[in-house]
Amino acid sequence: MWGGPAYSAPCYNSPVARVLMVSSEAAPLAKTGGLADVVGSLPSALQAYGDEAAVLIPRYGSIDLKGLRRVFERLPIHLGPTRYDASVYQAPAEFPFYLLDCPPLYGREGFYGESGLDYPDNHIRFAVLCRGAIAVARTLFKTEVFHCHDWQAGLVPAYLRTTFATDPTFLGVKTLFTIHNLGYQGLFPKTVLPELALDPALFRPDGLEFFGSVSYVKGGIALADALNTVSPTYAKQIQTPEYGFGLDGALRARADALSGILNGVDYRDWNPETDPLIPARYSAEDLSGKRACKEALLAEFGLPHDAMERPLIGMVSRLTRQKGADLLTEAAGQLVAEDVYLVALGNGDPEYEEFFEGMAAEFPGRVAVRIGFDNGLAHRIEAGADMFLMPSHYEPCGLNQIYSLKYGTVPVVRATGGLDDTIEAGTGFKFQEYTGAALLEALREAVRAYANGPAWRDTMLRGMAKDFSWKISAAAYSALYRRLLERT
Ligand code: ADP
Repeated sequence: MWGGPAYSAPCYNSPVARVLMVSSEAAPLAKTGGLADVVGSLPSALQAYGDEAAVLIPRYGSIDLKGLRRVFERLPIHLGPTRYDASVYQAPAEFPFYLLDCPPLYGREGFYGESGLDYPDNHIRFAVLCRGAIAVARTLFKTEVFHCHDWQAGLVPAYLRTTFATDPTFLGVKTLFTIHNLGYQGLFPKTVLPELALDPALFRPDGLEFFGSVSYVKGGIALADALNTVSPTYAKQIQTPEYGFGLDGALRARADALSGILNGVDYRDWNPETDPLIPARYSAEDLSGKRACKEALLAEFGLPHDAMERPLIGMVSRLTRQKGADLLTEAAGQLVAEDVYLVALGNGDPEYEEFFEGMAAEFPGRVAVRIGFDNGLAHRIEAGADMFLMPSHYEPCGLNQIYSLKYGTVPVVRATGGLDDTIEAGTGFKFQEYTGAALLEALREAVRAYANGPAWRDTMLRGMAKDFSWKISAAAYSALYRRLLERT
């Protein structure tokens, strides 16, 4: 489906907003994590409130040009003396879904790097994305709010406040910066500044400077008109030294402009009643398909059929310290001693990939692991597991535990950020302390609860009845855009 005309005139008196989302990922074309799910689904959800949202991401090498339509040819983007010739493509979607094509910058295997190493020109790649967004707003999609996602879009407010400050096209235009994960900051040496064609006056502690380096995330924090992050609890946590990554002071300074809006999910993609990616469909009324999914998952991972009567724990995760991979290294041995089974899918830090592979080798027939990124398998794990483990060190929102609720796969989570906001006693199991012992204690409690079949089923059904669709969260974004545009 094509997202209507490429350009339509703005209606300045309308109570709704025209929003251009700027992001490094959007499902289904470019995804490594939850950011993509959010940017790929929020624009459609906003339509219910009358808002018109478009999305711009880079056209990475992995995105086939076949199926895309070129909507702007030769869009010159000047960064000082250097000119990047880009074009803009549009992908079929329910909203205008634009891709900035500039093969020398984005036509590579990875989004951010390869073999665990960031591309050395990421500062240019994402500065060009930000300038590309401003060019798209001028030529293709008249924009009233730039909704900038994470550090890769962090320079949009900086350019608008300096280079384009007196440009009549952007008078009255507002910016919203959404932090999906403060752990990723876009930090570069000060020497890159001249390459960015940014006013050097912005390099100050209440601007882009972070202890002598240029910080793209700080640019967003300091210079956007409004800020938010993806759960109420994480919005509070990032203002503390423990979770602030050194930016807690900058965030506290903007506390009045900062809010927490929980991510919604798109149940058209994540619903066991309709999911085409799972071997059998099921619902709260008829759970028999879930058993079939478990059986198929055990077979797929080469685990014994005996496991049908024991708890099967699932994990789908980027394998990083953030996701609690180091807690599992502490707890793994004792975990399998509980007569439970574990299937895990993930990729990320080589150190943790090796740990997971090592765990599978040490406990064959108990633990099975796939290293890689596989959306179909992520769905099959959500459907086939009994419990879903997320022992995150910190978690801005987390989507997998929300998907798990809908699939009747009871979450066992660390009570942090969005995990704390979405899981409650009665739908899942939480632990507070970031220790292997606390994780084990919560799992043991879950394993004991699993033994009581009818009570376990009630826990599953309570989770399946939860509604984390975009309804409420898209309304909150819509209200925020309108507040920014002073249309409330
Ligand atoms: P984060 O964005 O921090 O990685 P979230 O829980 O918010 O974590 O979102 C993760 C999203 O990425 C989910 O849709 C999940 O299914 C998906 N995902 C993560 N790792 C993999 C993987 N290895 N294969 C397939 N999907 C994955």
